[in-house]
Amino acid sequence: MIEEKYIWCRNCNEIHHVTPFDKAPRYQFDQGEQIELSMDDRRAFLRRHSGHRLEGLQGVGERYFPAGRAVDPMRVGFVEVTNGKESFVLRSFRNRIEDPLHFELIRGRLRASGTSVSIQENEIRKEMKYHFPWCPSEKPDDEGIELFIKLFAEAVRGSDSHQIEMGGYEDTASSASHGVLSSAAIERLIQRCRLHFDPERWSGLMRFIEAHRDKDGVMTLRVVRHYEVDRSLD
Ligand SMILES: [Zn+2]
Repeated sequence: MIEEKYIWCRNCNEIHHVTPFDKAPRYQFDQGEQIELSMDDRRAFLRRHSGHRLEGLQGVGERYFPAGRAVDPMRVGFVEVTNGKESFVLRSFRNRIEDPLHFELIRGRLRASGTSVSIQENEIRKEMKYHFPWCPSEKPDDEGIELFIKLFAEAVRGSDSHQIEMGGYEDTASSASHGVLSSAAIERLIQRCRLHFDPERWSGLMRFIEAHRDKDGVMTLRVVRHYEVDRSLD
């Protein structure tokens, strides 16, 4: 995981993100000519704020990206930081995709406010339609696929959180992770399918479930942790 470091000007309330890249030159092509742009963002920031009260901020603990992953340039992110004495939440965002990342410093901490669980509906649909090797008598038609997705969603809704075994996070900068349904919940899904599909199609679906329920299979669940900014200070 990248260590998060920032410089905060307390006079202007401006933040500079310290990264290995902020000292690298950037280039732009203009009518075939290569033009070197900003040479050194960090030095420019320090020059702009010389004589001001500068403080280092260090990332600690939680990072939260409510919609989208950390690599999405338009995502809004929340990172907990500290200057060694006080806790802050740094909100990062862009107004337009070509703009640099803006930062807003909020006094407070990130507080977990629950998780949401969903099935990987589109991935299941794609896998069933295009990739899974069905025997001809097993293959569900489009209607059958939609029915299976509906039954799976119902089985997940009916299971409480301790029936979901948490897997690893998708990447270190994501608030989403994979969860695996318990055998009991899978068993419920299997029984529901038995009521709705003929024996050949049912046994095909059993093979499908078995092949995709572990690790990063399409029958695993997407679990997203949610946070709130807690502005009350301790
Ligand atoms: Zn300043």
